[in-house]
Amino acid sequence: MFEHIPAYPGDPILSLNEDFHRDARLGKVNLSIGIYFDAKGLLPVLRVVQHAEQALQGERGEGPRPYLPMSGIASYREAVQALVFGTDGPLLRDERVATLQTLGGSGALKVGSDFLRRLFPQSQVWISDPSWENHRVVFEGSGFTVHTYPYYDAATGGLQFEAMMAAIAALPPRSIVLLHACCHNPTGVDLSHEQWLQLAPVLRERESIAFIDMAYQGFGAGLDDDAFAVRTLAQAGVACVVANSFSKNFSLYGERCGGLSVVCADADEAQRVQGQLNGTVRANYSNPPTHGAKVIAAILNDAELRRQWTTELSDMRERIAAMRRSLHADLSSRISSPRLDRYVQQRGMFTYTGLTAGQVDRLRIEHGIYLLRSGRLCIAGLNAGNVGQVARAIAAVMAT
Ligand code: PMP
Repeated sequence: MFEHIPAYPGDPILSLNEDFHRDARLGKVNLSIGIYFDAKGLLPVLRVVQHAEQALQGERGEGPRPYLPMSGIASYREAVQALVFGTDGPLLRDERVATLQTLGGSGALKVGSDFLRRLFPQSQVWISDPSWENHRVVFEGSGFTVHTYPYYDAATGGLQFEAMMAAIAALPPRSIVLLHACCHNPTGVDLSHEQWLQLAPVLRERESIAFIDMAYQGFGAGLDDDAFAVRTLAQAGVACVVANSFSKNFSLYGERCGGLSVVCADADEAQRVQGQLNGTVRANYSNPPTHGAKVIAAILNDAELRRQWTTELSDMRERIAAMRRSLHADLSSRISSPRLDRYVQQRGMFTYTGLTAGQVDRLRIEHGIYLLRSGRLCIAGLNAGNVGQVARAIAAVMAT
């Protein structure tokens, strides 16, 4: 029956991660997958998460586990809205946002993409060149044709803003434009505030649907600053669909916590959109899981726990920035190249190093250092114990 089925080629990022774990060398360094490791190279369990989990324990553990509603836990959804859109401003007061609790950022992308495909069957999708590999996979999986718009400038390690604007300004109405809110994956190159302000009217005039992916809120400049794109586009009257993830900023990868929000014209429209979103969930997995969402809702809805969380999140952000500076300084002491500035100019977990696939292969084979073959390096895998070794190896492959 299944003999004709070809082998799954695997996800390039996850396969590389498996190769890393199989590698027996002692000094190996994993800078491939987008996961934050702490200064000791460990996956952190945030203290605030431990506190919240302890507080949820009653006589019968966490208590009974009924099905959640299709849309998820109400207090979690409200907390998502406040975090993503901010508490001041008319959007939430006027109940113009429909929101789901989703299975991570990926679940939000999938439900959002299925929802749009059903309701905008004529639309096509544009993602940045390059983008996170799974964007194309998810949107094509829903049946969309996926194109790219210019984004990364390989020559400068920065943004091709003029070309990006020109491409978006020429899109047919109701095109879906996938944008990264902050900490662009894979390049670490973001739009400035001024550039978002320039892009907003173009999207509105072209009647585009901005699908904003915010997987790294808090890892760029801070929780509010990183949401600047979302809030600017929403306030400018752009039709916005927003996927947010708590995998990284709560270090709760396996709990699969995220949110999908659609900004509507008024409360009545938001209610109808909410119903259709719920229907899309019903057709996918019926309703989301409980534990992680309870923990996150408890933290976000309690002033003291929330303060603890923002402090731990700032520590993660600052550690990444310190590692950027450290790698840059060490590399600069070994080689001189205009390519090094990008290590400190790009933001978030990733740097697009500009290393070729051949150089990346040499890093892996000769030095046990794992990057993506695109040259993407996860800064959050660096620590004081390995940054010197990584700098030495990068300098070596750049020099020969
Ligand atoms: N979007 C982007 C840009 C990402 O980098 C990631 C995670 N690698 C996701 C979405 C998915 O997030 P999650 O792990 O919460 O599904």
